[in-house]
Amino acid sequence: MRGSKYIFVTGGVVSSLGKGIVSASLGKLLQSRGYTVTIQKYDPYINVDPGTLNPYEHGECYVTVDGCETDLDLGHYERFLNLPTTRANNVTTGKIYQSVIDKERRGDYLGKTVQVVPHITDEIKRNIKLLGGKKGFDFVITEIGGTVGDIESLPFIESVRQLKWELGKDCLCIHLTYVPYIAAAQEFKTKPTQHSVKSLQEAGIQPDVLVLRTERELPAGLMRKVALFCNVSEDAVIQSIDVPTIYEVPLVLRRQRMDEIVIRRTGLTVDKPSDMHRWEAFLDMQREATESVRIGLVGKYVELQDAYKSIVESLSQAAVYNRRKLDLRLFHSEKINDANAEETLKEMDGLLIAPGFGQRGIEGKFAAIRYAREKDVPCFGICLGMQCMVIEFARNVLGWREANTTEIDPHTPHKVIDLMEEQKNVTNMGGSMRLGAYDCMLKEGSKAYEAYGKEVIQERHRHRFEFNNEYKEFFDKAGMVCAGENPDTGLAEVVELAGKSWFVGVQYHPEYNSTVVNPHPLFLSFVKAAIQHG
Ligand code: GLN
Repeated sequence: MRGSKYIFVTGGVVSSLGKGIVSASLGKLLQSRGYTVTIQKYDPYINVDPGTLNPYEHGECYVTVDGCETDLDLGHYERFLNLPTTRANNVTTGKIYQSVIDKERRGDYLGKTVQVVPHITDEIKRNIKLLGGKKGFDFVITEIGGTVGDIESLPFIESVRQLKWELGKDCLCIHLTYVPYIAAAQEFKTKPTQHSVKSLQEAGIQPDVLVLRTERELPAGLMRKVALFCNVSEDAVIQSIDVPTIYEVPLVLRRQRMDEIVIRRTGLTVDKPSDMHRWEAFLDMQREATESVRIGLVGKYVELQDAYKSIVESLSQAAVYNRRKLDLRLFHSEKINDANAEETLKEMDGLLIAPGFGQRGIEGKFAAIRYAREKDVPCFGICLGMQCMVIEFARNVLGWREANTTEIDPHTPHKVIDLMEEQKNVTNMGGSMRLGAYDCMLKEGSKAYEAYGKEVIQERHRHRFEFNNEYKEFFDKAGMVCAGENPDTGLAEVVELAGKSWFVGVQYHPEYNSTVVNPHPLFLSFVKAAIQHG
């Protein structure tokens, strides 16, 4: 294939319609016909990246292999496409302005007035094209965050308009809207869609494909009406109806030939059949599972599932491959203590102790871990969760009552978790943690080694604190072993309790590496242990 095709996905009417899922699903379908695909997300906010954002803002912060803190939609892209993304896949207004301002300071603009058009839009277009070109992907799908009409997304929309003009057939715009059903009138309403397409047209963009989000099946007449009012051909009006799982969306879109429409509209021919057999096998397993496995997720953002998006997806994939339905319960760590832990958690087959930052709710994590350790309930600690396993062990087994991480108590007499040396002079908060993929050597005979089935693994990180190796011997002797470490620095990556059914803590984030067709070995092994326990 010569050059790349650029597909833009915009959204209208309301946010949270699932542009990320539609982008990922279309990407999957194009990939299933033999094309190479990458998906990028453009976020209109001013933060340079979401790394400094609280999960209440945009949910989980996803980390790429090359160590970039990104939007959680990149997790969907990876889980669907089974391919890693990089820092080039997430661009924010802040990142664009930062690089334009850097160029201006260097004098690159040769005395010109620096303006939104053309300088900001040129920088946006340059970034969009980074993943394309002769050596790039066949399809570069770009999801534009926010809703059409927002002030802050205007430069992105203007860049799409320019690219559509410049690239002709190599560029295609998909607009996602919402068709509400008014129960009292027993009617669907297309007016919001018409208005949102109009505001896109006012910005100079005629969408080629419309995807209508709906809770109920839309009548054919309504789809024709939308086509007529919006200058879109009838076959290019697609409905995306609510389905039990997001992983069914590609099939819903394929039934309406969305992939074929996109391929033909961009001047290509549909010559390969769509091969989705591994995907469909996953969906079959998911549908056929009747028994459930009950996992308790202990964290401080229970009212906000998006805060643990990748963990929840990894658990549900692992449950499917273990032929179970995931029955996930979220427990607020602020509400758990030694007195109520057993009563609160006793019905759980396994416990996952969530990652996190700061003091709030940390004592509840210790109580949950203590319960799991004493009652031998399978327990999986991730990042802060692993650090909590170490602290709980130091306090209740080694008897160091005041052991802590210096993140919480800088003056603890037992700094079993301490700031990494390289972090000691860090003053800037953005992008300065230990980030991205590093090697880890696993110890033969450990649960982790057994799960991965190999010695050297690579996993992604996002932390500033680490296990303090000065205490290694004490832990080792008492039964908490280091089952994996970084081969260059000796940093403890995995801790395990010998003699327990499954008690593993990892400093890294395995949840960023689990995809639909490639579930993560540690999650598989943890869920299996939980089933055996239950
Ligand atoms: N707060 C801990 C650290 O910085 C753990 C981070 C995490 O759970 N991602 O080391």
